[in-house]
Amino acid sequence: MIDLNTLTIVSARAKLDAKEFSAVQLAQGYLDEIKKKNGELNAYLEVYDDVLEQAKVADDMIAKGESYPLLGIPLAIKDVILIKGRRVSAASKMLENYVASYDATVITKLKKQGAIFLGRTNTDEFAMGGSTENSAYGVTKNPHDVSRVAGGSSGGSVVAVAANLALGALGSDTGGSVREPAAFCGIVGFKPTYGRVSRYGLIAMGSSLDCIGPIAKNVEDAKIIFNAVDGQDFLDSTSITDTTYQKVSLKKVIGVPFDLVNGEGVSKEVKESFNQSIKKLETIGFTIKDITLKNLDAALATYYIIMPAEASTNLSRFDGVRYGLHKDGKNLLEDYMLSKASGFGKEVRRRILLGTYVLSHGYYDAYYRKAQNVRSALKKEFIKAFDDVDVIITPTVPFVAWKIGEKNDPVSVYLADIFTVTANIVGIPAISIPSGNILTEGKKLPLGIQFMAPHGREDLLFEIGNKFEAL
Ligand code: GLN
Repeated sequence: MIDLNTLTIVSARAKLDAKEFSAVQLAQGYLDEIKKKNGELNAYLEVYDDVLEQAKVADDMIAKGESYPLLGIPLAIKDVILIKGRRVSAASKMLENYVASYDATVITKLKKQGAIFLGRTNTDEFAMGGSTENSAYGVTKNPHDVSRVAGGSSGGSVVAVAANLALGALGSDTGGSVREPAAFCGIVGFKPTYGRVSRYGLIAMGSSLDCIGPIAKNVEDAKIIFNAVDGQDFLDSTSITDTTYQKVSLKKVIGVPFDLVNGEGVSKEVKESFNQSIKKLETIGFTIKDITLKNLDAALATYYIIMPAEASTNLSRFDGVRYGLHKDGKNLLEDYMLSKASGFGKEVRRRILLGTYVLSHGYYDAYYRKAQNVRSALKKEFIKAFDDVDVIITPTVPFVAWKIGEKNDPVSVYLADIFTVTANIVGIPAISIPSGNILTEGKKLPLGIQFMAPHGREDLLFEIGNKFEAL
């Protein structure tokens, strides 16, 4: 019996190489676990029927003496990343029967390493949400308390890893969708610098914000997945190389925007837990510096203008003619209206309306242009703040995972993103690392701490993250 609970990518790799178990046995271990738990948790929308064949190929590669960090490692893939010949739906009725005609660049890279794809995982529809409650295929449940949400939008990928239904996973993060669920489920979620991982083959939400990000049990595993998928890609014109940024040595100073952290919407328990994390960081020689970022409190509003603007533009292609579900009406306009109304769920429609509105003539200056100005200001403020500090930390989420169905107005769900959206707006890397839990109604609910680093300095997140994890 393989102990999936303690297994990491690093330890599995060593055991595969030492022939303690085969890739087929490992994959079978995960398939068994999925069979037991996925019915309740709803992490996977589809488990592939060729997992063992994939694992057999990996075993053949191992037998030939090949070795890559992810060779034979079973992974879960969010249902917004294209794998050639397989269905990908963005958890939407609109793309229910869509089969990808090419591999996303991240998939091409994982295939080269001989990684195993277990299946595609649940998400809020088109990655719009923070709880997977917006999926057209049911909610994903939190393994720490199944009456609660797992977070989102990459809830399925996160639960797959947290509940031992995969050893690692890929999610996408436009405003926190990798980090927020990772915090709610007690694992690591990592959003790289914008452009470090190719977006080619990712179903787009907000193209200037979208990042594919690793989900793993610990920082080292997240780094291994990142190193497997990063790199400049000429199929994504916004992708960059890792030599773009200069590395400098540690200042041993950490910045905290206390104004935001001590704000009203942040629960007392989260504040207390965050202060304990600060104390821990001080014990390993870091000094804490209170930083004031003038426009930080406008980040959430800025995000909820830029993101829907870009999403409405991206989603216009799903008109039932070029792409997506088609419904016949009496004329072309009716075709469009019927197709979109039956293909898209409520939240997606809300964002298309919002985005179309903020981009429309007469409102463009009042909303979209203003948001872009705040975005530029925030970028400058962050670059300046990083002159004095190595990383900036905040809690990942302002409260613990909520009860399924409890938050029924969209704005209260948007408020879960106050700490995460900024890294996407500014384009910097950020990681959520487990930072303890809070006993709530008899259940231990996890929390996360978020570390943000300057552009291209994911090395700092791994270095400091590793240290924090060991405390
Ligand atoms: N919760 C955020 C939203 O609903 C983030 C989503 C994401 O990162 N994909 O927009």
